[in-house]
Amino acid sequence: MTKAVCITDEKLASLKGLIDPAENIAVISHMNPDGDAVGACAAMSSFLREYLGKKDVTVVLPDAPGEPLSFVTSLIPKLMVGRRDPEAAAKAIESAGAVFVVDLNRLERTSVLEQAVRLAAAPKVLIDHHPGPEEEPFSLVFSEVNVSSACELIYHILTRICGGAAKLPADCATALMCGMTTDTNNFANSVFPSTLRMASELLEAGVDRDAIVLNLFNSYRTNRIRLMGHMLDKCLRITPEGAAWMLLTKEIKQMFDFHDGESEGFVNIPLASKEIRLSILLTEEDDRIRVSVRSKKGTSAREIAGRFFNGGGHENASGGRLMIPADIPGVSAVEAYVENAIKQCLG
Ligand code: 5GP
Ligand code: MN
Repeated sequence: MTKAVCITDEKLASLKGLIDPAENIAVISHMNPDGDAVGACAAMSSFLREYLGKKDVTVVLPDAPGEPLSFVTSLIPKLMVGRRDPEAAAKAIESAGAVFVVDLNRLERTSVLEQAVRLAAAPKVLIDHHPGPEEEPFSLVFSEVNVSSACELIYHILTRICGGAAKLPADCATALMCGMTTDTNNFANSVFPSTLRMASELLEAGVDRDAIVLNLFNSYRTNRIRLMGHMLDKCLRITPEGAAWMLLTKEIKQMFDFHDGESEGFVNIPLASKEIRLSILLTEEDDRIRVSVRSKKGTSAREIAGRFFNGGGHENASGGRLMIPADIPGVSAVEAYVENAIKQCLG
């Protein structure tokens, strides 16, 4: 039925054995959480509270999800943010009877939470869809790259436990559809037969996809549309190698009253051109430049993210960062750095 071969009866039994005695459970995901990360946390939280023995579940994220994800975030009743309240976040992790880590393959991706997760005495479970997971800190690992998203993998695990989509708590089902929809960029990439089966079963179970699409893709502030126009008109650079890159500076953020999450999707837009096979969005922050990379099949986003941007991810969707001043002296050095990286990887 499902291609997620990592889900065996033995592992499901271990999972249940590990959850049973735990009263408090912490669910954790990566820095700058995206729709898949927040959806996966919301889904696990709902399932553990409502289906598996009324657990007290705290979702702990390193950073607050952006406003555009407020629909998914609202499905999480108990949320702690590491950067906002580091002590409470660490305590929630350290005192948990079980710790779930979702949508990341290396604990360093939990940034400010990393130490607390490593130190936590409770059994830890990893559920992820990135290549090359760090397995050592975990008692149990569900890792599968042939799925669209962490939410899809969680869907396959939870439906094996509860017997089908119709048995999932409503918030869990909605959150899973949200995460899968954002990670596939609304069914544009990373879609497997099992992804469409999941979508179909969730629709049958009553999930309101129209509301999800409205909330995820058509509920931005108008500023975001104007910012998008500005970036494409004034900032888009196209190189002879068939790469596109854009730099969103602090100055431009200020011009458009930028809120976190409002540039979601920008990196995909240049790939609409026949000539473009790789697209990079760079975003200036206080001590770093955040980097998002997307590519078409046959060109590796992961290679350039790994070699030049201290990051990684999937073959065609990766991310990373340039630290200031360790990697580059400042934004004025971005152009030369990026153009050289593109030449090295695509030239
Ligand atoms: P985004 O561009 O949306 O921030 O990230 C795209 C993909 O790359 C996501 O699947 C994310 O998990 C992965 N990714 C982003 N940043 C990093 C990073 O620093 N290291 C690794 N290993 N993966 C990353
Ligand atoms: Mn994901």
